Amino acid sequence: MLMALNIFHGAPSNMTPLVFAVGSITNDFGIKGIKDHCMFLDTRVEADLFHQHFFRNAYTAHAQTTGLREGQLKIAIAGAGATGVELSAELHEAINQLVEFGLDGIPKENVKITIIEAAERILPALPPDLSEKTTNALSKIDVEVLTNHRISEATELGYVTDKGGLIPSEIKVWAAGIKAPDFLAEIAGLETNRINQLVVKETLETTRDEEYFCIG
Ligand SMILES: Cc1cc2nc3c(=O)[nH]c(=O)nc-3n(C[C@H](O)[C@H](O)[C@H](O)COP(=O)(O)OP(=O)(O)OC[C@H]3O[C@@H](n4cnc5c(N)ncnc54)[C@H](O)[C@@H]3O)c2cc1C
Repeated sequence: MLMALNIFHGAPSNMTPLVFAVGSITNDFGIKGIKDHCMFLDTRVEADLFHQHFFRNAYTAHAQTTGLREGQLKIAIAGAGATGVELSAELHEAINQLVEFGLDGIPKENVKITIIEAAERILPALPPDLSEKTTNALSKIDVEVLTNHRISEATELGYVTDKGGLIPSEIKVWAAGIKAPDFLAEIAGLETNRINQLVVKETLETTRDEEYFCIG
């Protein structure tokens, strides 16, 4: 906010500036099944829901007397940006802790964490050597990394990718992209880009109206 206030020093004194700082929401790019079958991490409520879902599945699997379904305790994360990569490592840690707390009745082969990424390397926005180091670190903790895999559909049982076939995962997280909220797309005739972000100048004033600022 301090940054935004500083910009106002150059603004005409009679204007009441309006600052948009409404954040982003998950972008499912209209891909079939994502809304219905994936979990999101946009808000604290969604993060808590994911936490509950994950623990419920683990406890159920631990108590289950019949064999586990193929994807029952497999977790697939769409998107190997910072969120997906960090989440995969945290989940690995959480699974280890569950075993320490006594949930050791789950066969190891039934538990798997997979990250699915459309780009040719994970953390595509960062330098290649960081992607490589992170890939190696994930490999050491048995997180499966599938790059060059573009998800085309999500079902109850897993993700389908352009490589064909289903990646079994009853726990699916979508962390493959964001967009600005849809209501910004048409707001006050301001210029927006293809993901609804307001286009701004270096001063953070919107391009078509200097009374509106945008930050975030
Ligand atoms: C899982 C996860 C992990 C992350 N980890 C990190 C990290 O470790 N380090 C880091 O730097 N960044 C991290 N980020 C990114 C960071 O959270 C965002 O970059 C940052 O929150 C963006 O700030 P913001 O103020 O633009 O938007 P937000 O923090 O999203 O704030 C926008 C607020 O506006 C409200 N709002 C929306 N629409 C309206 C409306 N119409 N009217 C009124 N209010 C509205 C929203 O409810 C929200 O409270 C992470 C993000 C995620 C999802």
